[in-house]
Amino acid sequence: MSIKQNLQNIKASLPDHVALVAVSKTKPVSDLMEAYHAGQRIFGENKIQEMVEKHETMPKDIEWHMIGHVQSNKVKYMASFVHLIHGVDNFKLLKEINKQALKHDRVIDCLLQIKIASEDSKFGMTPNEASEIIKSEMFSELKNIKIVGLMGMATFTNDENWVKKEFNYLKDTFENLKLTSADNYQLNTISMGMSGDYQLAINCGSTMVRIGSSIFGERNYSI
Ligand SMILES: *Cc1c(COP(=O)(O)O)cnc(C)c1O
Repeated sequence: MSIKQNLQNIKASLPDHVALVAVSKTKPVSDLMEAYHAGQRIFGENKIQEMVEKHETMPKDIEWHMIGHVQSNKVKYMASFVHLIHGVDNFKLLKEINKQALKHDRVIDCLLQIKIASEDSKFGMTPNEASEIIKSEMFSELKNIKIVGLMGMATFTNDENWVKKEFNYLKDTFENLKLTSADNYQLNTISMGMSGDYQLAINCGSTMVRIGSSIFGERNYSI
């Protein structure tokens, strides 16, 4: 099936309150443009350099989401245009995003990544760490970032009950942290669900799904 057709099928299956991030990492601009012409405006990349290059050549009404692990020293390259950073997992990174956003006189929306998977390879903080950051004095001084939600990646397994447990854990964490808010902190987004598990994620309360291979086809990392 074509990219356009894949997109239309997925969109038709999403409830209105769920946003679709088309994960276009490793894919050529021509593929992204096919999705763009089919109406898609939110794209997710996991490497800053690749996102910067695509941003430069593509239409400027696209919302670029950084969904990968972010190194502090690379924040400056995307600070002028990034729409949402999903993978914020430590305070030092928040501070750097704030500093770079200030240079561009803007506020950058961020999601805190919570570690919900049992795999060591997945990044993220514990709900307690997230809560401590949000309550801290240092955090309240960051005026050029806004925490708008949480992000999580489930364990890579066929055990649906296991994945469901992890998604529910993220949803519970979201509901707890949502009880308080501040100028730079107001939760409304739960980014969870990928090609293999997005329907389950939506059933568990996801408001933003990140879908790559079901739209663009399998990725080939060797080229
Ligand atoms: C690659 C990636 C996705 C999309 O994965 P698919 O299985 O291709 O849908 C979603 N989220 C993150 C963080 C990713 O790195």
